Amino acid sequence: MKPITIAIDGYSSCGKSTIAKSLAAKLHYSYVDTGAMYRAVTLYCIDHGLIKDHAFDEHEIVLALKDIHLTFKFNPNTKSSETFLNGINVEKEIRSMNVSSSVSPVSKIHEVRVHLVALQREMGKNKAVVMDGRDIGTNVFPDAELKIFMTADPDIRTHRRYDELAAKGVKITFEEVRENLISRDHEDTHRKENPLIKADDAIVLDNTDLTREEQLEFVVKLVEDLSLGYDLAK
Ligand code: C5P
Repeated sequence: MKPITIAIDGYSSCGKSTIAKSLAAKLHYSYVDTGAMYRAVTLYCIDHGLIKDHAFDEHEIVLALKDIHLTFKFNPNTKSSETFLNGINVEKEIRSMNVSSSVSPVSKIHEVRVHLVALQREMGKNKAVVMDGRDIGTNVFPDAELKIFMTADPDIRTHRRYDELAAKGVKITFEEVRENLISRDHEDTHRKENPLIKADDAIVLDNTDLTREEQLEFVVKLVEDLSLGYDLAK
C-alpha cells in the first residue's frame, strides 16, 4: 500500500496520543506529537523567564524562537518518541501543570504557529506518518488521506487525565485538572488562527464509552477500508 498521512485532531486529554502511537506502531509509521512541540516552546519560555504568572511579552517569545531547537528520539524502552529541547530530554517536564496552563496562550502566537507548522510539514513530508494535534487535518496536512476527529465527555476526560497525573505522583486536585482541560478547549477552539475545528472530511471518534482496543479496531478498520487489501498483520 502507498504510504499515507493520518491526521488525528481533537480536544484535550481525549487519548489522541495513545491511539496515534498504537496506530503508528501497527502500520510501522512514524508518530508526531505536535502538542509536545507547543509544550516544549512553552517550557523554554518559562525556564527563561519569558512567562511569569501566565503573563508574557509576545515579542520576546518570537525573538526566542531562533534559540529553540526541537528534536525527537525514539526510546525503545518506553516504545515512544521523546521530546528534546536544545538537546535535553524534556518529555516529563513538558507534561507538568505549569506548562499545561500556559501552552494555549503561547500556541496562539502567529510566529510560533508558523515556525512549528513548518517543522511539522517537514517531518511529515514523506507520508507514512500519524500526526496528532489540533489543526493537523485542517491546516498542517489538509490533504491527509485519513482524518480523525476525537472527542469524549469532559468528565471522562478529566478522570482519565487526573488518574494519569496521580499515578505519576503529581499533586493536583480533580477540579484543577478539569479547569485546565475546559480552559484549553475553550482557548483552542476560539483562537483566530488555526482553531481546533473538525475538518469537513474528518471522521468523528467519540471514545467516551470505548476501550483502547475498541478505538484501535475502529481506526484500523478505517485504514483497511482506505487501502483495500492491505495486510496490517505484516
Ligand atoms: O496535545 P496537547 O494537549 O499536548 O497540546 C497542548 C496544547 O498545544 C494544546 O492545548 C494547544 O493549545 C496546543 N496545540 C496547538 N496545535 C496543535 C497541537 C497542540 O495549538 N497542533
